[in-house]
Amino acid sequence: MCCDLPDIDELDKPANTLCRHCVRDEGCIAYAARPATCRDFLCAWRTDVALGAEWEPRLSHMMVYRQGDQLTVLVDPRHQGAWREAPYQGQLRAWAAQAAAIGGYVIVWVGDEVFKVEG
Ligand code: SF4
Repeated sequence: MCCDLPDIDELDKPANTLCRHCVRDEGCIAYAARPATCRDFLCAWRTDVALGAEWEPRLSHMMVYRQGDQLTVLVDPRHQGAWREAPYQGQLRAWAAQAAAIGGYVIVWVGDEVFKVEG
């Protein structure tokens, strides 16, 4: 998902387009030379215990990451309704309520559409 959903300037990679270095059954064929954006990135599923097994990106069809007070969710456009399904929508609303209490928010991207989740 992180090699597909986000845009990556250093690679000239648009959003929702699989990186040219990502090869099925091999992974990143440019791993040793991958740019800093790839080296430094860890999604919330890897770092945040609040995301249970159901958030594994291949299962959820979503990629979640934090930037300061903002939690961003990129949804695979091939599964554009995934974030509105259980258990995801309920968790997103709960996180939005928690974030709002400290001035933060939860944003969902589905292709070119963007939504602010209400808690
Ligand atoms: S360079 Fe490698 S790690 Fe970075 S997006 Fe492409 S395939 Fe993924």
